[in-house]
Formats: sequence, structure tokens, C-alpha cells
Amino acid sequence: MTDALALLNSVFGYPAFRGNQRAIIERLAGGGDCLVLMPTGGGKSLCYQIPALLRPGCGIVVSPLIALMRDQVAALEEAGVRAAFLNSTLDVQTASRIEAALLKGELDLLYIAPERLLAARTMDLLKCARIALIAIDEAHCVSQWGHDFRPEYGALGVLAQAFPGIPRIALTATADDLTRREIIDKLELAQAETYLASFDRPNIRYTVAPRGLAKSGGAHAQLIDFLTEHHQGHAGIVYRISRAKTEETARFLNQNGFPCLPYHAGLDAATREDTQTRFSNEPDLVVAATIAFGMGIDKPDVRFVAHLDLPRNIEAYYQETGRAGRDGTPADAWMTYGMSDIVSQRRMIEESEGADAFKRVAQQKLDALVGLAESAGCRRVRLLSYFGESSVPCGNCDNCLNPPITFDGTELAQKALSAVYRTGQRFGAGHVIDVLLGRDTERAQSLGHNTLPTFGIGRDAGEGQWRTVLRQLVALGFLRADSEAYGALKLEDAARGVLKGETSVQLREESAAPARAKASRQSRKRAKDRSGSGSWPAIPIEADTAEGALFQALRAWRADVAREHGVPAFVVLHDSTLAAIAAAKPDSLSGLRAISGIGDAKLARYGVQLLEVTSAQPGS
Ligand code: ADP
Ligand code: ZN
Repeated sequence: MTDALALLNSVFGYPAFRGNQRAIIERLAGGGDCLVLMPTGGGKSLCYQIPALLRPGCGIVVSPLIALMRDQVAALEEAGVRAAFLNSTLDVQTASRIEAALLKGELDLLYIAPERLLAARTMDLLKCARIALIAIDEAHCVSQWGHDFRPEYGALGVLAQAFPGIPRIALTATADDLTRREIIDKLELAQAETYLASFDRPNIRYTVAPRGLAKSGGAHAQLIDFLTEHHQGHAGIVYRISRAKTEETARFLNQNGFPCLPYHAGLDAATREDTQTRFSNEPDLVVAATIAFGMGIDKPDVRFVAHLDLPRNIEAYYQETGRAGRDGTPADAWMTYGMSDIVSQRRMIEESEGADAFKRVAQQKLDALVGLAESAGCRRVRLLSYFGESSVPCGNCDNCLNPPITFDGTELAQKALSAVYRTGQRFGAGHVIDVLLGRDTERAQSLGHNTLPTFGIGRDAGEGQWRTVLRQLVALGFLRADSEAYGALKLEDAARGVLKGETSVQLREESAAPARAKASRQSRKRAKDRSGSGSWPAIPIEADTAEGALFQALRAWRADVAREHGVPAFVVLHDSTLAAIAAAKPDSLSGLRAISGIGDAKLARYGVQLLEVTSAQPGS
């Protein structure tokens, strides 16, 4: 397999394979079928791109999204690979030129939309051409149960009969067993070897912060603190639950100096496409989006994904946060949430169309996510165990970096639960807290709550603390926030044991912790060791260091090149490659070629210019 390694190095500029890339490439290049389950950013594309170069003929890649195709082809062309795509955006002349090139054996890789591929005309064309392999990307689109379902994908099984002897590979970042079986079944991949990678994304740092009080600015203020400290000038996504909220967040970020566009299904198609293109092309744009902003995002340098509202479940959280850090360099998954999130998600489940059984599952899935959010243990361990993987504390999540202090909160819990009980289980957190604090509000007076024995029993704690206590009691299953009654708190059965003094309650202390814990040197090292290869250069962001200044200069150069070529910046060179150049400051072409991400074609095209940028920088 020296050939594959040689191609990895000369074409893509990478020194070594990752994970099971090598095994997959060997099998596919040898003519065997494969099913690849690998997380986003795991490096799926090389698994079929390299075999397509190794085998005679052209590799056919089925891909559901036009934007993805365009970027992949542009990136391959930049690396000197003969690639093209066929989809509905092409005019007739261009399409026939590409078809002719295919028949003449002048293409290494051809990306095709599924409906185009299945057209009789295309099938006939492919039968006349020499085909190296067939890759089916985003293979989970066959699944009727997933939210990316594409009917055309279900018909792709015909490829097995139509192209006997041509190896096929299906790839997806969706891990669950049901989807896996559907892919094998519908795509007729019974002979395929399955490669299941770990779903860990070691470079993503997970943080969940309780939402700050509205009077101190709430989630938006927390977001600004977080971005100001860690992500100035970075691209990122802020997920919000509704269209109106994406607009609100976009306005707020723009006012605070973070360029941001909203994205949601209510915008017209042209605006959405424009936002998608700008996000992909610009290295420092933030998009405030609903979940409509999804699968088409293949930008490798998304430095953070923030959730200002709780997602539906762990699968959604994993998928959305997974859009950060595809390039393998440090990225943040940062979320703030509060009790109102639990109420609104619950209401959405209750108001949904589904059958009762479906609602029950949805509810359990939401509970699992709330459990993750409230966990005092390693977030990653919890996340991975949800997907059936066992692991050890990661050293790269908020709880590992800043272990939360837990304490015996039984007495606080008893006070809170009895305030809920005494006020008739009809009120939300606000009024319950008023009663605990002994606030003589109009409502308390009119209901006579100011004469209850619980009135004022909670004066030893503040409003903020009561809020976190109530939220934790909901998360721990002692209270339920009733979505049908505007978030009224009700006692769950388990509360009885607490009130009777039979059950003790461990709570986590909510310090005025910083938005994101600062990593200790040791935990940074642990996180780095975990990421293996050591191919994890920090992105220098402080422009006042020589390295940072050079990095910025390289990015400015890249922006010009990208504009000239009409491609996204990351297609020219990744941030991680620019960071490695800034750190190593090579002064020769051979020094530059040794940088990960610079292959022969990029060296020939950009080598001299890069050395000019590097040498023009003072201090280098
Ligand atoms: P996926 O499709 O699995 O989300 P990609 O194929 O887009 O992931 O790869 C993610 C990133 O990792 C890309 O920037 C790619 O160039 C890079 N990459 C893939 N394989 C390697 C490797 N062996 N060494 C270094 N970088 C790699
Ligand atoms: Zn951890």
C-alpha cells in the first residue's frame, strides 16, 4: 500500500492515514464493498478519493447536495485531481463536455446527484465508461426515519445489478444501528465490510453553562463574553429554536461587532443560498440559525457551535455540535440553557402530531439530554456512552477542566419542594421563588401565600441559587415543569422521599464560573495526547505575537486568492495548514512541502507566494 500512502502525501500533502482510512482504502482499492460509519471530520472523503486514483477509470460519487459537490470538486481541482460534477445547475454544453471527458477517461472523480444518476440516459452513459468505483456519500439519506430522507436514495440499490464487479462504498456520520441496517438493505451491500470508527471528536470542547439571569443580559450577554474571550474573528454557528430568535441573535451580534447573518426556513431560497455561500467563503462570519442550517455545511474551520436554546435530544446535539472543528483543530461546543427550555421542548413534543408511543420516546430522549446538561461528570463520557461507546474522562470538557463542586442539597430541596406543594403545584419557578424568598408581591397577597409556613423559608439563599436548585430538581426527576400549564412545577413521585427525609439530594454548586473554564496545562496536555497524531496545531489568534501576525497575513493572502479563483477560502488552504506555516516559518520550498496540507499541486501553485508572505513578515 505504499502507493496509497504516496498519493496521500503527494496529492493531499498529509503524512499519515487516520484511524481506519488505510484499511478502508485497501479493501475498496482491492475491489471489495465497504460501509463506513465515521463522525463528521473523520476523513471520509479520502476513503474513496484515493482508491479512485489507484484504480483504473473514474470514481463516481453520489452526493445529495449541490453545494457540497461544488466545494469538493473545487478542493480536488486545487489539489490537481481531475474532478467534475453533474447536476441540475449545469448548462447543456458544460454537461456534455463533462460526459465526453468521462468517456475519454479524462476524469478521476465525477460527483453526481442521485436523481441525475438514476436517469436512464446517465445510466447508459456510465455503462459505456470505465468506472473505478461507486461511492454513496451521506448514505443515511436512505433512511425513512431520519430527517435527511431522500426518496431517490432508496432506489440506488439498482447500482448493484447495473454495475456488477465494481466496488461500492457507502459513507455516513450517523451511527445508530437501525440506520446501518437500512443502508445495507436498501443499497444491497450485504457483501460489504463495515468500518465503525469511534464517534469521539477529541478536538471539540464541550461546555454547558446555566443561563444567566435576564437582568444581567441573559444568554446573549453570556454569548458575547464567550465570543469575546475565545472567538474573535472566527466563523461559527449559533443555533436557536425559532426563526424570530435567529433574527434577534443576528441583530444582537452585529451590534456587538460580530458579523452575523440569520438563517431559517422562512427566508427565500436565494437569500438562504447566499448566506450559505458567504458562510462557506468567509472565515469570520457567524450564522444564527434554526436547524434548517444543516447537512450542506462542510466548512472545515467552523470554530464554535453555540446553542442558546436546548436541542431536541442528544442525537441532534451531537450532529449540530459536530459541525465545529472538522479540520481537527480545537473548537468549542458551547451551550447555555435554563428551565424554560425544558418547558418549551416538552410543549413541542406534546403539541406534535405523533402517536403517544412516539411522544414517550421523544420525552425520554429529551430527558437524556437534560441529564447530560446537568451532569457533574465528564460530558464526553456521557455523550459517547449514549452512543454505546465507553471511554474515560476526557480532560477537554467544562466538567473535566473545572470539576463542579457537589454538595448535600437535601435541605434546599425540601424547602423548594414544599414551597411547590404548599402553593398548590400551579405556579412556575418565578412565583415559587417569590414565596421562598418571602417577597410580599401582589400575587402572594391575593392568594394568601404570604401566610404559608413556607413563606420566606428560603431567605438564606438568593434568587439565582433557587433558580438552579429548581432546575436541577426538574433534571433529577423530583419536579416536572408542566408544559400544558405554562411551566407550572409539579411534584413527581420521587419527591415524596425527599420531603419525608428518606432520600438525600446531591446538587451541583453553581459558582459565578467563567463562561468557559480555562484549561490547566495538564488537562490541555491530556486532551492533546488523546487526539493522538499530535496533528493538532493551536490556531494562533493573538495578532500581537509574531506568529499571530503571520497567521493573519497568510489569511489575508488566502482571501485574495480565494476571491480570484471564486472558491471558498478553505478550498485554497485550511486554517490548520496556515497555522502550521505560521508556526514553522519555512524558508524553502522543501520546508513548505513538509507542512501537512501542502501537496505537489499546491506547492507548485502557491509555494513561491507563500514564501514571499512568510519572509515579508518582520521577525521571521
Ligand atoms: P468527513 O467527510 O468525514 O466529515 P472530510 O473527508 O471532509 O471528513 O475530512 C475532514 C478533514 O480532515 C478534511 O479537512 C481533510 O482534508 C482532513 N483529513 C482527512 N484525512 C486526513 C489525514 N489522513 N491527515 C490529515 N488530514 C486529513
Ligand atoms: Zn470531560
